[in-house]
Amino acid sequence: MSHMTESQKRSASASTKSPSLEGTRENNSALSELLPREQLDKLSALQLVDLIASKLPSRHTSILDLIYLRDRIGEMEEMQEQARQAVEKLSAAVEKLRAPALRIGTFLMPIDPDRALICISGTDYVCQVDPQVPLNSLQIGQRVQCNEAFAVVQGLGFDRTGPVLRIDELLSDGRLRIGQESGLMPLVLQRSALLAKEKLKPGMDVRVDHNQRIALEVLGMGKRTDRILETVTELPWSAIGGQAAAVQAIREAIEMPFLHRDLFRRFDYALPKGFLLHGPPGCGKTLLGKATAYNLRKQIKAQTRVDHPEFFLHVKGPEILNMWVGESERQVRDLFAQCRERAREGALAFLFIDEAESILGVRHGSHQHSMVNTLVPMFCSEMDGLEPLQNVVVILASNRADLIDPAILRPGRIDRKIKVNRPNEEGAQAIYEIYLTDSLPLAESKMQLAQAVTREHYARTPANAFLEIVYRSGRKEMLYRGDLASGAIIAAVVRRAKGLAIKRAIETSQETKLTREDLFNALQMEYAENDLFPSSDLTEDWLKLTDFDPDNVIRLGAVRPQKAEPTSMI
Ligand code: ADP
Repeated sequence: MSHMTESQKRSASASTKSPSLEGTRENNSALSELLPREQLDKLSALQLVDLIASKLPSRHTSILDLIYLRDRIGEMEEMQEQARQAVEKLSAAVEKLRAPALRIGTFLMPIDPDRALICISGTDYVCQVDPQVPLNSLQIGQRVQCNEAFAVVQGLGFDRTGPVLRIDELLSDGRLRIGQESGLMPLVLQRSALLAKEKLKPGMDVRVDHNQRIALEVLGMGKRTDRILETVTELPWSAIGGQAAAVQAIREAIEMPFLHRDLFRRFDYALPKGFLLHGPPGCGKTLLGKATAYNLRKQIKAQTRVDHPEFFLHVKGPEILNMWVGESERQVRDLFAQCRERAREGALAFLFIDEAESILGVRHGSHQHSMVNTLVPMFCSEMDGLEPLQNVVVILASNRADLIDPAILRPGRIDRKIKVNRPNEEGAQAIYEIYLTDSLPLAESKMQLAQAVTREHYARTPANAFLEIVYRSGRKEMLYRGDLASGAIIAAVVRRAKGLAIKRAIETSQETKLTREDLFNALQMEYAENDLFPSSDLTEDWLKLTDFDPDNVIRLGAVRPQKAEPTSMI
């Protein structure tokens, strides 16, 4: 068959037709006389019937048959048309299902004259843009649809979802630097058209596109750690009594390197980024921290004539602990970010973390979690990221330095441990003298009063017996008030004594002065009521106040002063 000509094919197929039709054709029907064969072939079946009918005499007997035939053909044609439409629909649906999905990308920038830089799944492409999509209608950061050839065929809106990151720094050209989030490399982002004119600040949270290239939306200032930002009032070293050794150590650790940077660098001396103050509560750790800030600013100003206002961020470790996983880490990062930000702005930033063992402990301090303490590595990497002497100083304070993870105390991090002891008798007198200022109405000279009250405070008399220790060996020892003295207690004793003098002045309506009796009474009351001391008799609570090794002590209990010497004043 394949070698047959067209006419041979036609006659071969004709030979399969029914004999009656065969006869009609060969006899040259009346139809072929009416119209040439090609034109007949173009007519529909209905038109042929109509043609035949029109040639029959009007009362011909076949007219009715032809009408019947016409109806049948009409029905068939209608069915055929419906079937054709159904097939057409089906083919269109099949065609749609077989078409590949279109890619969605982020529009980064136009490339003249009609191309665009697009990021799709983290990879950049220079794409052709469909002429139907005007290039200038596309906005930086919006989503675009690309076809199989990666040509942009449609502009879509901006992403509504996406990761949220915190701005670390604004670059001079408006781009945003994103800090080192957990498991994320630091990033630099471009602004979307939506944020082109927005006033952005470090510390703000922004939502970024899925490709993490463009900042799309500001989600406000991230919630910052609740912290007490204390303005450091005038606090010369002389306002701190009885801590000469600690003050000296701090000056050597921080002041000297800051003031003699070149010398330290020349000797390749490990430069400090901070220090740890450890010792019992109320002995001036916070005070020393603030005094460091105040005095360092003063010294730098005196030497360089540049004044760096201090920024003193004071946080308590337990405040950072958060039940939400990752939240504490975020807060620590945030504290460092704030300090770096302020230092860049020219401030001298201090991060003071009180009760540091609660977050940087080998165990999670008093926190119930037995989880690995993820704050320690976090803190270490933040410390490692700090440049020494770049105006950020980290000060940790703790009553339990033994609990602080050794990783924190490695060189390059917090490698200076400075002990803040309870004041000895001499120190106590110095502190009394600080609080009994000359401007107060004192019954005797400041020196005399301070001496008298210190002697009373530190006398090893039964009236001053305060704590009994029972050692594992069975040995007993008595601690006296002086053994548990602190700057905080001394300040409170003086405050209370002033209150007593004021009360007396009101009651007697006479001019009164602060007497040594006021101080003795105040001392008595302070040891009975001061909330620095535990109200319970639990050995563990008392142990926290002393330096005794818990393993050696089996009991440590208060000798309640009320029992030993009832006080006359309430
Ligand atoms: P810590 O941080 O060690 O618990 P603080 O520095 O908070 O102790 O001390 C509490 C208060 O006690 C201080 O605000 C200050 O009034 C007083 N104080 C403590 N130590 C001293 C000191 N050595 N000299 C003067 N005042 C002190």
